Amino acid sequence: MHGICDDAVPWQTSLALGERLESRNAVVILLKYGDHRPSSESDLARLGRNFGRTRMRVAVIKSIFLCGVLTLLAHLGRGEASAQDTGAEEASRRAMAIAQLPPDAAQVLFGRESTPAAGPPQAIGSYERGCLSGAIALRADGPNWQVMRPSRNRAWGHPVLIAFLERLAQKLPGEAGWPGLLVGDIAQPRGGPMLTGHGSHQIGLDVDIWLTPMPNRRLSPAERDGISATDVVAGEGMDIDPTVCTPQHRLLLEAVAREPLVERVFVNAAIKRALCREGGPERAWMAKIRPWWGHNYHFHVRLSCPSGSRQCRGQTPPPPGDGCGKELDWWFTEEARHPRPSPRKPLRLGNLPPACAALVAAPTGQALQLRGAAQ
Ligand SMILES: [Zn+2]
Repeated sequence: MHGICDDAVPWQTSLALGERLESRNAVVILLKYGDHRPSSESDLARLGRNFGRTRMRVAVIKSIFLCGVLTLLAHLGRGEASAQDTGAEEASRRAMAIAQLPPDAAQVLFGRESTPAAGPPQAIGSYERGCLSGAIALRADGPNWQVMRPSRNRAWGHPVLIAFLERLAQKLPGEAGWPGLLVGDIAQPRGGPMLTGHGSHQIGLDVDIWLTPMPNRRLSPAERDGISATDVVAGEGMDIDPTVCTPQHRLLLEAVAREPLVERVFVNAAIKRALCREGGPERAWMAKIRPWWGHNYHFHVRLSCPSGSRQCRGQTPPPPGDGCGKELDWWFTEEARHPRPSPRKPLRLGNLPPACAALVAAPTGQALQLRGAAQ
């Protein structure tokens, strides 16, 4: 049983898992309004009906196992722990990934592309399984922003996202007292899965923004590749560090969440906890702010599918409410705080929408040579 409103583990994971189970008795049940831990009367009644009282114990054991597998699968897309790596650290991780992955892994094919695919802008597929054509790059410097980690070449995005960032940066000093954006990873030139970091950021609609306010001088390329962002979380992840997490951080997150194009904002659970504590009575905007692992040095902004991208697969909207109650509490449990590590799985082009294969087949020497060699 899997709730469609589960924003920790996508319900599609259960379908994929159901597909792979060999038992003839495998049944996948989707709960229309169920969240990460379905516990409403009707969900519990359904559990009882489907598994029966005598078999309840077995069912619970199975669901604990399933939960473990789902958590494991969810963590495959969680690899943002290295978002703070310096340019040099990231380059060595990238080389290591290329050495370990099969040459036709989608991470390798998309990771080697250094230019965007021509054509009209299209976000193709989902945030975790997709690609991007017609990308444009955010300029390294603007009036109120600076692009960080330039050596990664990940400042490419759907033009709707790039325009959004330029607009947002301009209004933040006035609206939130935030001097400007230090912009982290957006996407690769053709989107797609990355060799390092991120499970998402594949269709040019996700962007990481540092939790460090922009300094009032232009950082050199070496500084942008080498300095670290500010960790605003303390107490072993249980709360924010009030000496570095300021009221301006709250105003910044609120301003971003209120933007109509924004689909979700991912932050560390401790940041969400602080927002819940300090937010005023009008808190509908908080629904979009979702806890996720990491995100203590940066927050992650995700836009909805742009109207022209017909192959873009968005997410179900976050459940209504401020997300502050029981569902936030789970993030401070042992299970959430110390998840078992899981290896990253190589993706093949077949795991992405068919249109994505055409993007890396475009005539750039390396990709063609590689494809020839594989055949
Ligand atoms: Zn991110």
